[in-house]
Parts: sequence; C-alpha cells; structure tokens
Amino acid sequence: MKRVAIVGAGPAGIAAADLLVGRAGISVTLIDEGQQPGGQIFRQPHPGLATDMKRLLGAGHARLERFRALCSNVLPQLDYRPRTLVWNVFGGELMTLGERGVDSLSYDALLIATGATDRVLPVEGWTMPGVYTLGGAQILLKEQGCLIGRQVVFCGASPLLYLAALQYHRAGGAVAAVLDTTPIAAKVKAIPRLLALPGVLKDGLSYMAALRLAGVPIVGGVTLDAFVGEGRAAEVRYRAGGQAHAVACDAVAYGFGLRPEMQLAELADCALRYDSFRRQWYPDHDGDGRCGHGVYVAGDVAQMGGAEAAGHSGRLAALSILADFGLEAPASPEPDRAALARQLTFQDGLGHAFAWPAAHVAGLADEVMLCRCEGVSVGEVRRGLRSDGGPQEANRAKAATRCGMGRCQGRFCGSALAELVAAETGADGVARPLDRLRAQPPIKPLPISAVAGEPLA
Ligand SMILES: Cc1cc2nc3c(=O)[nH]c(=O)nc-3n(C[C@H](O)[C@H](O)[C@H](O)COP(=O)(O)OP(=O)(O)OC[C@H]3O[C@@H](n4cnc5c(N)ncnc54)[C@H](O)[C@@H]3O)c2cc1C
Repeated sequence: MKRVAIVGAGPAGIAAADLLVGRAGISVTLIDEGQQPGGQIFRQPHPGLATDMKRLLGAGHARLERFRALCSNVLPQLDYRPRTLVWNVFGGELMTLGERGVDSLSYDALLIATGATDRVLPVEGWTMPGVYTLGGAQILLKEQGCLIGRQVVFCGASPLLYLAALQYHRAGGAVAAVLDTTPIAAKVKAIPRLLALPGVLKDGLSYMAALRLAGVPIVGGVTLDAFVGEGRAAEVRYRAGGQAHAVACDAVAYGFGLRPEMQLAELADCALRYDSFRRQWYPDHDGDGRCGHGVYVAGDVAQMGGAEAAGHSGRLAALSILADFGLEAPASPEPDRAALARQLTFQDGLGHAFAWPAAHVAGLADEVMLCRCEGVSVGEVRRGLRSDGGPQEANRAKAATRCGMGRCQGRFCGSALAELVAAETGADGVARPLDRLRAQPPIKPLPISAVAGEPLA
C-alpha cells in the first residue's frame, strides 16, 4: 500500500487529506504539532475555554464551522497524529517527536503543508516585554482568550494589522492606534489587483471602517522609530508627514506579513526559488505542488496565498500525488488552478498594499538587537561585515557572530540579517537575490534525549 505523509493540518493539509482519504491503495498519515487541526487561520480555543468565537470572528465564523465539519469527516478516516513535531527529513523518512515519543515515518509521497509564520524586523525596543508579533497577539486571543494589553498599538505592514486590531476591539480591548507603514497611495494603486476578489476587498475595507467608526486613530505611511518603556512597552514613537509622534500604550502588536515555514522542504532537497517582489525564498514547484522525487508542497509554504488559496493548492497537490501514483483523479485540476490564480492576483495586490519595508534595516542604530535568541546587535553584525576579510554572506555572518544560531534558528531574525547583509554588500535583492540562512535539523528545539539515542552501556 502506498503511504502519503502530510505535514500540517491547516487548510492546505486538510484539503489534500480530504481528497486522498478513502482512495483504494493509499494510506494517509497527517502530522501536526498543534493540539487541534486548523493551522493558523482556524486556531480554536483551548478545550474548556468559553471564548465567544462568533463575536470574535464575525462573518468569518461560518468558515470555521465549515472547516470543523470537514475535519470531523476526514480525520477519523486517516492516521492523524496531533501534538507531533516533524523535526527533520532524511533519507526518505520523517523524524518526529510527539505522543509516541521519538519516532520516524517513511513515505512514498510527502506533502509539506507547513504554512507560514510572522515576518518581523527589529525596531528599537522590540525585545521588551509587552511587544508581540501580530500573529502572536492574535493566537493568544483565539487560542487562550487573552489580550496582550488593555491599550494596544497595532503597527507594521500586514493584512493582519486591521483584522487583529478589530478582533481585539470586539474582544473588549482598547486599540490605541493602528500605525500602517505603507502609504495610502500604495493601497490605492493596489486596487486593480485587489479587485480579483471583490468580496474579500470589501471585507478588508469594512475592518478599517469599523475601526474608524470605533474612534481608533489610523495613520498610514508611518516610519516606526522605537517602542519605549521602563521594563515594558508604554509608548510607540513614529514619524508621519515629516513630524515625530508618540502614542501611549501598554502593549504593541507588530509585523510585516508572513514568511514560509520551508525548512522541511529544504531538508527534503526541494529546489528553492527567489521571489524578488516579496524578497524571500520559497520551495520551487510546478504550480500543482510537485517538487520532484515524491515531495509536494501546498498552502502558504508553497506561495503566500491565504486560507482559500491553501485549500485549492492542497487539492492540486493531492491530484498530483494521485496522478504520479498512476491512479485516476476524482476531479479535474482546472477549477482549482483558476481559483488559485485569482487568489494569487489578490495576494499580489496585498503585497503592494502592505509593502515589505526593505530599507528599514539599513537605517537601524547599531545598538538595536538583531538576534534576540543569541543577543547579537545590529552593530556587531555590521562591524563583522565591514571588517577586513569579514563575512560577506548571511551564513558566514551567522557563523562569525552567532546571529541566527539560537532557539528560533533564524526564523525571526533571518529576514533582517539578509537585508543587513544586502545593505552592507551592495546587493539590491532584485538582480542579486537576498541571502537566506540554510535550514538545519532539528528545525525547532528538541530535548537532547530525542536525538541522543540509547545511553551507552
Ligand atoms: C499567526 C497567523 C495568523 C493568521 N491569521 C489569519 C486570519 O485571522 N485570517 C486569515 O484570513 N488569515 C490568517 N493568516 C493566514 C492564514 O492562516 C494562512 O494563509 C492559511 O492558514 C494557510 O494555510 P496552510 O494550510 O498553508 O498553513 P497553516 O494554516 O499555517 O497550517 C500549517 C500547519 O502546519 C503545522 N506545522 C508546521 N510545521 C510543522 C512541523 N515541523 N511539524 C508538525 N507540524 C507543523 C502547524 O502547526 C500548522 O497547523 C494567519 C497566518 C498566521 C501565520
């Protein structure tokens, strides 16, 4: 019997599993480190917490209900392993750590649907208590029913900016301000692309309108200068219209979009492609999720597309797997390809409306922390890069300074390190791609016992 291993029980992994389960001759194992299926968008409250998800999600609640119904149909039909981390792929096997302890799993086809995480850049004061990523602030609310503060500033450039702010407002938190680093003119320019999905555009505009109606100050085109406070964030300093401003708060949620969780794809020997518009790397695939040698990708890890796109690309990858096994497909890929193309046009629009501030890192003061895990400042890396015979590439800079060598393995400082190396070495990130930190196993922290094997007799 052919075995398909799927990593990730978000919209992409579940859509693929739905198409594959019940097919004669295929057994499906679905692994996710989360305790419930849903991935990032359909995060659900911890069992036992009486969070009012309907109030929190508004119109989005119906989608969560549909997703839950799909899961209750699909999951009993397969080998579902929640609370299980895949920490390496090697020699056609997944290395896992979960309820079964240390384990491995071989596969005939591997679908990597590991999604994305927050993409952040250092801002002076970003390591202070009270400063969260936008996604982190939202996860606390959705999963634990907690607010990060009572007076929160939401800032950066991300579609999550307005959504998370509105969710906080609905949950009873005060939103001190929304500070958007992209100018309004860029949003207006993005409208033709955003019209690929008029309904979603309308939803986005309604979030902004609801915040304005609630009296939340919204400022566009800002430059974030610092998060300031005595032991905890109490103020955000920024510039707008050539003037310096400050807004008081007791917590900050900030972020600059998402970055793909592609370490497993890299360890599985997928070729990588550089997206010069988003200035980041993705696993390369044929459009239907095929990376070659039995490895497939779907969802945000394959291309930043959002939950609907993740569903379409999950189904496309499942159809590719069936075709490559020589099995008959239950459906044509064309409707999913067409829907995915519309989603990606819209996402392109979002990329313009919430632009990555590529020049931000070059302007950071030397004292600002770059790698919080290892305590490496911008200045230490800068000095290394400028020194005679010093590193001129991100992985060499990592080796020389330990930037990116800590617990997060560069998942949070890697984008900033790449921009800093580019700024110092004259790479524009377009004609000459940004560097990227190579993936290393274990991709997330593990207890030593998980890799040490049996003690010596
Ligand atoms: C923090 C955050 C909040 C978001 N909030 C919203 C929102 O409110 N509304 C919205 O429209 N979009 C939101 N998005 C975007 C949206 O969630 C994604 O576009 C969509 O969920 C992508 O689906 P996916 O299946 O590709 O990945 P995901 O939904 O990210 O699912 C990936 C799954 O893979 C699992 N996984 C990853 N690595 C491993 C591993 N090594 N071992 C085991 N399991 C692993 C994760 O636990 C996760 O469950 C958010 C994204 C993020 C990162």
